[in-house]
Amino acid sequence: ADPAATTEFSGTGATADGHPVSVLANVGSATDAQAAAGVSAQGVGLFRTEFCYLAASDEPDVAGQRRAYGEVLAPFAGKPVVVRTLDAGADKPLPFLESGDEPNPALGVRGLRIAFDRPDVLDRQLEAVAAAAADSGAEVSVMAPMVATAEETAWFVDRARAAGIDRAGVMIEVPAAAIAARGILEAADFVSIGTNDLAQYVFAADRMLGALATLNDPWQPALLRLIAGIGAAGADTGKPVGVCGEAASDPLLAGVLVGLGVSSLSMAAAVVPTVGAALADHSRDAYRAAADAAINATDAHTAREAARNALSGSA
Ligand code: PEP
Ligand code: MG
Repeated sequence: ADPAATTEFSGTGATADGHPVSVLANVGSATDAQAAAGVSAQGVGLFRTEFCYLAASDEPDVAGQRRAYGEVLAPFAGKPVVVRTLDAGADKPLPFLESGDEPNPALGVRGLRIAFDRPDVLDRQLEAVAAAAADSGAEVSVMAPMVATAEETAWFVDRARAAGIDRAGVMIEVPAAAIAARGILEAADFVSIGTNDLAQYVFAADRMLGALATLNDPWQPALLRLIAGIGAAGADTGKPVGVCGEAASDPLLAGVLVGLGVSSLSMAAAVVPTVGAALADHSRDAYRAAADAAINATDAHTAREAARNALSGSA
């Protein structure tokens, strides 16, 4: 066999023994969406809609949002796109939303928490997303950021359904949500793990501080153990678990995440071909063995080495 051929991403993610893994892109603009389509991403696992709001001094109206989202959805007709509702507040204050002076912005009124005070803002966004979905023919679902409980999940899912959006899920990026994953999955259609924020909150380590990068390493066994619990909850409830944080863009870690029960990975378009190709190097059982080795390691470095050793020589 031509060794070069095995390193190319076919456009359909799967393990060596044929278990499907969706290889999706993270996008924040129409330009990103075109790049993602150009590298054969199977869809979009995280559309960050903040761009539509952050540049505006007033809330963009439904028609304006519909246009902006439509441009991002256009290249993905017939394909899955997960639209994340507004993830702003605290460190990303919006001029048209009152945000008090918060001493701990990362722990403040951000993400979905804004919508509890201003459900009208969420409802207008959901209306625009539903309209843009119909315009584009993309298979759109919505997902809420910074969810902490199953009760919040149910609140969001109800509002999405009321707006005519059938598939609704939430991000798991707050430790409480990771611990409560089973109840959250029972209330939602899917979850997607935001490993960037989940690591930050699990390790009490600001993700923006380079000095704490070792704690925010996605190979940290404590983080992987939490992900394993979410994967098990996905298997028990029969609902999909994805990862859309930076962890998904490391080709070795991507396989470990599959071994932990994750069935979709979303990443920057630039790494889609590399990660998509790497997944086909080993079987799901081999990834499960690698995941088991990694979660039993004592630090991030040895977790990576343990996973690499577990996979070396296995199909
Ligand atoms: C995350 O927290 O991992 C994530 C994907 O969301 P963001 O990076 O936009 O906070
Ligand atoms: Mg996040």
